[in-house]
Amino acid sequence: MEYYKPETLKEAVKLKESSKNNYFLGGGTELNSLAQESLKIEALINLEKSCSDKITENQIGAMAVLQDIIENPAAPKGIKDAARHVNNRNIRNAATIGGNLGANKASSDLIGTLIVMKAVLEIITSDGKDESTVKDWIKSPKGLISVIKFPAPSRKVFHRRFSRTKNDIPTVKFTAGFTKNNDETFTDIVIAAGSVAEKVVTMDKTSDYLNGKAMAHIKENEITALIKKDINPIDDHRASADYRIKLVAAAVNEFLHLVPQEV
Ligand SMILES: Cc1cc2nc3c(=O)[nH]c(=O)nc-3n(C[C@H](O)[C@H](O)[C@H](O)COP(=O)(O)OP(=O)(O)OC[C@H]3O[C@@H](n4cnc5c(N)ncnc54)[C@H](O)[C@@H]3O)c2cc1C
Repeated sequence: MEYYKPETLKEAVKLKESSKNNYFLGGGTELNSLAQESLKIEALINLEKSCSDKITENQIGAMAVLQDIIENPAAPKGIKDAARHVNNRNIRNAATIGGNLGANKASSDLIGTLIVMKAVLEIITSDGKDESTVKDWIKSPKGLISVIKFPAPSRKVFHRRFSRTKNDIPTVKFTAGFTKNNDETFTDIVIAAGSVAEKVVTMDKTSDYLNGKAMAHIKENEITALIKKDINPIDDHRASADYRIKLVAAAVNEFLHLVPQEV
């Protein structure tokens, strides 16, 4: 296996594009895990020298590690709270935000939050620099993520992580971004759910229903019907599909009842 530490993003991308078995290396927590043993890695391209780890209110370099994001006062609160959910500190000390996106796992603690915060990814390919929403990128990943931008860093985010034990991956990860109005309604709602499909998904029918609706007009049975249209989880050793739907419904309920008192 070859190992490279290029000085520039352009060089890193060129090395990556020279073989489908070449991989960018962030903190390596995922690439070095047993789950990746079957990968036929020809070369690792360490991004330490080429990719930024700078953290500001409006953008975070893809090589920033999760513990630094948590501890940096400038980082947006929504993403700090999401990073705190990642188990455990040893992982958070090495895992990068770019690697979390690159791993693109259904159980990611960060991807849902980045979607509902409306973060924008700066992507580098051999064609140059481009931008992508997180939702589009996770559907068809391409290129090197260099920077994660936060056009609305103070956007409010509600997180609910259900897991069998503290150290387990989430059985369901629920995240909602929203604006709370003076009349107790929510608008601009975006909801994302993790561990309910192959990738993190948005729950557009449920969020459309809740957008701008007064509490008195929200009906629990209607929400459950919409959740079933939005997600179609599988049964596995962590939970049945039906239980996952119940967890999502419980999270929506908590969001509607707890957030008005907290925000
Ligand atoms: C024991 C353990 C516990 C974990 N717990 C959690 C958890 O609680 N929550 C959670 O969300 N995740 C968890 N993970 C998954 C993983 O640690 C995270 O997804 C982590 O953020 C990956 O970051 P990394 O820098 O280590 O990625 P790496 O392992 O370096 O890379 C992961 C993938 O991303 C690609 N990549 C890296 N950087 C970039 C970039 N800038 N642009 C494009 N692609 C890139 C790599 O090529 C690779 O395919 C856990 C993993 C382990 C091993």
